[in-house]
Order: sequence, then C-alpha cells, then structure tokens
Amino acid sequence: MLSVVGIGPGSVDLMTERARARISGADVIMGNVRYIELIKDVIPASAEVVIGRMGTEVERAKKAVELGQYKDVVLVSGGDAGIYGMAGLAIEVAADSGAKLETVPGITAASASAALLGAPISNDFAVVSLSDLLVPWSEIERKLEGLAKMDIAVVVYNPKSKNRTVQLEKTYGIFMQFRDRKTIVGIVRNAEREGCEIEITRLEYLPAFYHRIDMSTTIIIGCSGTKNLGGRMVTRRGYETKYDYETGNGNADDVAAGYVDAGNRVWEKSKAIVRDIVSKYPGSLSDSEKRVAGRVVFANADPLFLDLLVFNHHPVETGIRCIKEGKIIITDIEMVKAGISKKYRKNVECFVNAPNVREIAKREGLTRTAAGIRLAREKGLIQGNVVVIGNAPSACQEICALVEEGGAGVKPALIVATPVGFVNAAEMKEKILSMDMGIPCIVIRGPRGGTPSAVAIINAIIELSMEEKRGEK
Ligand code: SAH
Repeated sequence: MLSVVGIGPGSVDLMTERARARISGADVIMGNVRYIELIKDVIPASAEVVIGRMGTEVERAKKAVELGQYKDVVLVSGGDAGIYGMAGLAIEVAADSGAKLETVPGITAASASAALLGAPISNDFAVVSLSDLLVPWSEIERKLEGLAKMDIAVVVYNPKSKNRTVQLEKTYGIFMQFRDRKTIVGIVRNAEREGCEIEITRLEYLPAFYHRIDMSTTIIIGCSGTKNLGGRMVTRRGYETKYDYETGNGNADDVAAGYVDAGNRVWEKSKAIVRDIVSKYPGSLSDSEKRVAGRVVFANADPLFLDLLVFNHHPVETGIRCIKEGKIIITDIEMVKAGISKKYRKNVECFVNAPNVREIAKREGLTRTAAGIRLAREKGLIQGNVVVIGNAPSACQEICALVEEGGAGVKPALIVATPVGFVNAAEMKEKILSMDMGIPCIVIRGPRGGTPSAVAIINAIIELSMEEKRGEK
C-alpha cells in the first residue's frame, strides 16, 4: 500500500493522527531531506528511509508506486500532500497499474499561516503558486491579474527562491495596479517551524520585506474586508453587518452600520474596474495622469472621458508641487470649492459671492463668475496659483483674457478647466488649450465636464501630493 501523507507545516503536534499512524507503521518512508528531518522523531527505527532530491519527484513517485505493491510505503509531502504536493503526481504515475494508493491530508501552509496571522481567509480566498518551474509564467500572470481585479483574499505560495525573484516583484506590480495600496498583507516565514516570523503590513510596503521572503514563506494578500485588528489580520465575513457583538442579537442599527463596510466594498470594486479601464487605455498617459484620469472616469462612471481629457505641459506634476507648497486654489463657483478635499480646503478661495463682485460684473459687463476671477486677479491671487473652473465658460474666457493681457504678470501655475454645457463651454476650453503660453493645464474637451470632474481632478492631485509627502518622510 502506498500512502501519500501530508505532514503539516512543521511542528509534529500539527500532524494528523492518521499521518502519524501511517509513518509509524511504514516499511519505507520516502521524501525530501527537509520533510524527513521534520518528522525524524516519528520515524520508526525499522523503517527504510529513502531521501530524494528536488527535481527527482517523478522518479521518486514511480519508485514509491512500485514498492507500494508489496510493502507499506509512505511518501511524505509538507503541509497537505494534495496541495502543490506529491499526491497528484503519484496518482498520475500509478494511473493504470491498479496499485493501492491513498492520500492522507495535512494542514497546509495557508491554514497554518492564516492561524498565526489571525483569520485572514475567513471569507472566499484563492491560492496561487508563483513557481514557474512547471507552469509558464504567462499563465500565472493571467491568474494573478484576474484575482487582483477581484475583491478576494489571495494566498501566495512559492513566492521567491534564490533564483526566482522577479515573480514576486511582478506580482506586487499587478496588485498595486488593481488593488488599493493600503490592502492589508500578512507574511509568514517558517510557520510552525524554528525561526518563525510573522508580519502584518500593507500592500504598498511589501517591497520593504522582499529580503525576508523565501521559499519557506507564505504571503496572504487581503481584500477590502480585511482589517488589522490590534495586530491580528482578519477578513470580515459579514457578521458585523448583521449582529450586535455585545448582545449577539441581530440589530437594525448595526445592519445600518454594516452598510459602511458594504459601501467600502462597492467603492473598492468600482476602483478596481476603473483601474482596469485606465490600464487598457492606449493613450500615452504617465502613471500620475492615469490616476487623475481614473478619478474622472470614476466620478462620471464613463470611460469615454479618457478620450476627452487633455494634459498639457506636465500639469499633474506641477499641481502636486503647488499643493506641497500650499498654493491657493481659485474656483469659479462655491460648489467646486465645497467638493475639494477637506484637508486642503483652507487654501481654496471662491469670489463669486464676494461683496463687490456684483458691482464689478455690472461695471465691466461680465458674468458674476467672470467677475469673481477678475477680483482674484485684483487681489494678486492668480499669479503662481491654481485656477479650477468646473462650471462657467465665462470664467474660462476671463482667465484667457487676463493671461493674454497681463503676460508674465498674470500667469497661473495650473489651470483646470472642465465647464459643462452646450453654449460656449467647448469653445472656451479650446481657447485655453490654444493659449500658447506654456501654462500647464488639464482640460476636458467638448461640452461635457462639470463640477464633479473638476473636483475629481483636483482631489486626485491633492491625494497624489499627500502620498508623495508621506513617501518623503
Ligand atoms: N504542500 C505544501 C505546499 C508546498 S509548496 C502545503 O500544503 O503547505 C511550498 C510552499 O508552501 C512554500 O514555498 C511556502 O510558500 C509554503 N510553505 C510550506 N510550508 C510552509 C511553512 N512552514 N511556513 C510558511 N510557508 C510554507
């Protein structure tokens, strides 16, 4: 009889009774040196031990099947023999021989590591091996992309060896593309063995741990429901939306509170869809321009905005620098101001309702929004600052007139122009683009746009600058 036995992650007390019984009763025990070493205290003195090398698995499996015809043979695998272990191969080589064969399951690295981290795979999860020794990398990459796009926890086996290092870096790149960079990630090295190390971090910081990741390491990438609860990694399953943990009762208020989490999941899914759309867009946008474009697509739920967005003279980099330097943002209407991230709103000015705007408008024959821009110019606030026009074509016209008239003296650092409407909006936005003064600008061409687009653009820039600031610390 041949028993293909999973011995668990390492510690013998995590081996099943059945695995122990098969090993104790075996005539022959076969396995690689590491696993034999792990179970040496369980191996009976009478057993013949055959140590196999990596790369000789087929030979070993054949030999085990053959010996199993007339002896009790145990072929050992780490963890579970059926998960990247020897069970499949033994069954394949035994296929037509009529040999007696059984598989004894074991605790796999995913469950051993998950238990040490907390409970990160307590909702749906997937398992991927990064080893491309037997499976072509293109196939692994395709699976990783599919999984990264899904909001599901992913357990990564065989992350890195001495000769295979780029696979982990590529995996990181794929997940950074499709998942929130703050996704919780758990790393367990030598689970239930000597030298056990456990880390809980965030996706964005994974590269900082590369040097500690090896072939005895399992990585668990969480999903939007995964939290770091006081140093334990937990993927919520939804109980929190249904029950009050204090009383154990289902509670309407708590169900309502749970919507926050459900809302997060919707938000994460939408973001993944947008990242996918933007990554496939054939235009030549820089990474930061893609982030800004993604926010516009997200705000409008419309990928067609990718064809309408124009980025002239590196406006995102300029915008990031302006935010870092605390430059003023001038908006055409209050609604745009109200939509700008609270973190920066103290530096946002809108003059449409200022006391003397009505008078300026009357005197100069301007709309109130255009007069608001004129007042900003009179206060010296246009030069070197950011102008965001989300609504009024006349404000675009005014900024063009001021810049053309004032030359170097009235030069905003950045113009964001997304007015919406069938009358004049498209024309005025074209006018901004045709103003050849080297001023960085972001424009949505044509009649579409509006406040949500303007706010999406400027908030994306604010977010990028905050991220850069954090990175510099
Ligand atoms: N059959 C095994 C998996 C073999 S593939 C099982 O079910 O666990 C080998 C990979 O499993 C390793 O590269 C590592 O990613 C993971 N692994 C196995 N044992 C581990 C341990 N003790 N700690 C952390 N990861 C482990």
